[in-house]
Amino acid sequence: MSTTKYDVIVVGAGPGGSAAAALLAKEGKRVMLVDKNKSAGGRMMTIHDKEGFHYELFPISGCPTEGSQMEHVLELIGKTDAVKRIKPNELGLVDLMCLMNSKGELRWHEMSEMGKKMLHSLHISPMNPMHALGLNRVKKFFKAIMTMPEGEINKLYNISAEEFVDSYGPFPGLFRTFTLFICEGAFEMTCDKVPAADYIRFYQESNKFGSGRYYEYGFGRVFEVYAETVKELGGTVLYNTRVKSIDVEGGIAKGITLQNGDQYMADIVISDAGIRQTVLHLIGEEKFDLAYVNRIKSLLPNLACVGYRWFLDAPVLKSPSLVFFPEGGLHSWDEFKAMSEGKRDIQNYIYFGTTSLFPNTAPEGKQLVYAVMSCYPNPKIDTKPMLEYIKNMIHRIQPDLFDHIYKTEIMSVEQSATFGTDKMASDFGGESYGVANAIGQSGDQRPNAKSPIKNLYYVGNDAGGWGMGTNQAVDSAVNVVNLILN
Ligand SMILES: Cc1cc2nc3c(=O)[nH]c(=O)nc-3n(C[C@H](O)[C@H](O)[C@H](O)COP(=O)(O)OP(=O)(O)OC[C@H]3O[C@@H](n4cnc5c(N)ncnc54)[C@H](O)[C@@H]3O)c2cc1C
Repeated sequence: MSTTKYDVIVVGAGPGGSAAAALLAKEGKRVMLVDKNKSAGGRMMTIHDKEGFHYELFPISGCPTEGSQMEHVLELIGKTDAVKRIKPNELGLVDLMCLMNSKGELRWHEMSEMGKKMLHSLHISPMNPMHALGLNRVKKFFKAIMTMPEGEINKLYNISAEEFVDSYGPFPGLFRTFTLFICEGAFEMTCDKVPAADYIRFYQESNKFGSGRYYEYGFGRVFEVYAETVKELGGTVLYNTRVKSIDVEGGIAKGITLQNGDQYMADIVISDAGIRQTVLHLIGEEKFDLAYVNRIKSLLPNLACVGYRWFLDAPVLKSPSLVFFPEGGLHSWDEFKAMSEGKRDIQNYIYFGTTSLFPNTAPEGKQLVYAVMSCYPNPKIDTKPMLEYIKNMIHRIQPDLFDHIYKTEIMSVEQSATFGTDKMASDFGGESYGVANAIGQSGDQRPNAKSPIKNLYYVGNDAGGWGMGTNQAVDSAVNVVNLILN
């Protein structure tokens, strides 16, 4: 056992853990940050200078553009200038959307475009009297969600986004499909589970603060800066180091034991290793009461992703993000499960994009392209049919890409589990964010960041926090640090 006692030990240097560690180090706490990976960032880690590319394992769209919690933390630790934010639209880059109707007709528009072109690509014709009536409902619907006050939004945690949208319908063309895809796009969760409150809040915030943000030398650079700050302020950062257990005595967290047997003590332990993994594996369910363990076991994770990273010998894509929506490709949670079990045809939205259009991310003339779809979060599912589907669809929308692939990497559910919180249970794992923004576990009903074990806190996507992915994880860090300091 090490005789050094830390004020705080943080298990996991993902977005949530690295942010919490940096903020506490800045407050003068003696901090130890430990991660099993080779650098900070968790599932949003950047792989640096691999054949000239700086890239993330999974596609990334930082949301919101302005006022993100990630940058708020950089400000709080005095590192605003350490990372350069990239706003795609300032580089003249536009995101595209492609909608395919049931006849297989493809229609494209720029994502920011709200006018005639968008209606066209949603297969809506204002000349059609039925569509014209439906368009009035669309206007009424948008007015309602964009002006809804916070108090009203908060009443909508127990109804799903799907139920809420359908209460205004029927809508013309592919509008319903298009608007409900936001649940997958923002929360990696199905529209029958995402609360209407989260869906509306996301719409309002994207409208106000924009969407689309990246960082020079990779998105994960922000989390590396957080971890570097811990070191600069006298803390300890251990990489390639797996924590075997969080040690608890008499209901109080006392420290950690590493895989190699080394032990460290601390007044406070914060876990960014996922709430389920922390409770069930790092501590052990016998240390909690049964009701709490059952609640943790019952939490739904969000969806996982599967797809390709294609390395191209030419800059084929001109847009950082091209989202493809097929009619009939909007699914419930149970339908995703059926798809993963081969009981349902695969038809899904595909995120197709590149970060190589941003400065200092790719070698001259080359491009790294992501093509990915959501899937049921279980590393054991057979993803071959999904990979086949993605390839077939990309052949339709960007056939020239296939003349330029010189290397292919598969983006798997397993990989997400490995880089993040490990496999969580026999039937789940590899989800993209963590505990889903779903009815019964969102808003006030999200798991409390303060554990029933004294001096133990959870941070990251699983523990409160608002926003999309990384922003939610970092928001939770800000909340947890405030809890601890107060
Ligand atoms: C396919 C995919 C697409 C995504 N797209 C986006 C996007 O477009 N926008 C966005 O904002 N977010 C996106 N995300 C989500 C984003 O990656 C997560 O929200 C974020 O990484 C969660 O941060 P976290 O701190 O909660 O956990 P994690 O990132 O999972 O970090 C947990 C850390 O804990 C460490 N750890 C776990 N167990 C141990 C242990 N026993 N010992 C030591 N260390 C341990 C892990 O190594 C890891 O570093 C995506 C994720 C995936 C997988």
